[in-house]
Amino acid sequence: MLQSQLLIKTLKSAPADEPSANAQLLVRGGFIYKNSAGIYTYLPLGWRVLQKISDIVREEMNAIGGVELFMPALVEKKYLEATDRWKVEIGYKIATNNQKLKTDNFVLGWTHEEVITAIAKKYISSYKDLPVAVYQIQTKFRNEPRAKSGLLRGREFLMKDLYSFHADEKDLFSYYEKVKKAYFKIFSRCGLKTYLTLAGGGYFTISNTHEFQVLAPVGEDTIIYCKKCKYAENIEISKLNEGDDCPKCASSLAKSNAIEVGNIFPLGTKYSEAFDLEYQTKSGEKKLVVMGSYGIGISRLMAAIVEVYHDEYGIIWPKEVAPFRAHLIGLETQNQKLRTTAEKLYKDLQKSGIEVLYDDRGDKTPGEKFADADLIGIPYRIVVSDKTLKYHSAELKLRSAKMTKLIRIRHLPQFLKSKIKNQKSK
Ligand SMILES: [Zn+2]
Repeated sequence: MLQSQLLIKTLKSAPADEPSANAQLLVRGGFIYKNSAGIYTYLPLGWRVLQKISDIVREEMNAIGGVELFMPALVEKKYLEATDRWKVEIGYKIATNNQKLKTDNFVLGWTHEEVITAIAKKYISSYKDLPVAVYQIQTKFRNEPRAKSGLLRGREFLMKDLYSFHADEKDLFSYYEKVKKAYFKIFSRCGLKTYLTLAGGGYFTISNTHEFQVLAPVGEDTIIYCKKCKYAENIEISKLNEGDDCPKCASSLAKSNAIEVGNIFPLGTKYSEAFDLEYQTKSGEKKLVVMGSYGIGISRLMAAIVEVYHDEYGIIWPKEVAPFRAHLIGLETQNQKLRTTAEKLYKDLQKSGIEVLYDDRGDKTPGEKFADADLIGIPYRIVVSDKTLKYHSAELKLRSAKMTKLIRIRHLPQFLKSKIKNQKSK
């Protein structure tokens, strides 16, 4: 993609009303545009990152038998009334376009347990229909009185929600373990180290739930955790204190702020009871379906990655979620020969399957181009200049490292291709 044609202009200074690093850097780098408090537009660069994260999530959900669908964002009152959640003051309630109607009859979806259970009732009737797991990646809405910290706490955000249906609790918990593993994989592919944290049970679950927490000073949660064996509990339910012995390995426990990037809930039969979701067993008996629900905040994950991966100059995207793999910068592009060489390299990189952003802008100084590259944070920076052309080469630099390396231009596409392939197979 040509940088001149991307709808972005980087900003030198951070917006004053956005104190968190993710909001400052994502706004400055041209990834997001703030429409209102807690409401953002994902500009082309930001949307690419969200797509990368969504693709990782899809791959890992599909790998554990999840099937993707897409439910409406408008949720009718009758669904939430069935579980007594219509009264929960978390959603944006609205009256659909009906002049006679004086009261709200819909809510912008903040969760979809009720809707999916009603759908499942139509299609699940026998033990032969179980187990089944479906998920969606969709915009959720929450009437957030304290929208803050950029994409960490928004009023409108992108979320993956998975729902699983089982014949009994044993099957639910065996799937629950599979989801745990899949979640660790997703977060690790996004570059994040997460702590599986024991959290409160809540009204709709059959036991304690689990959260996936990323240590970060900006995080709104506090966890007590063990550095050695990774055991962790949310402070809201924990009887443990900093400095206590770990209940698993007896090491000294630490305390930290953390960002919750995912959660998993064993729901049991609460929802199937409310919607009368039953199946017939082999012996002809009627039983309630046992359910689980599992969330990942996709846009929040993007923010958590930036909170963990940045320096004073900008973002340092982990490779799998970077908007592009390589950032090609042509300097002195008024020189026709240089411009032709850079343009050919741009095309050759694309032909090799490398996603590349080409800084073809003619009105920027080298200093401005380098500063923008650091701010945007694409893993490989490739510079073609009068100086490098003397050696028929381009200068290659990792965003995360200081060292640069000259590589023959004709070898560069193959070189990068092999690097990227190795990273993927890890
Ligand atoms: Zn421990």
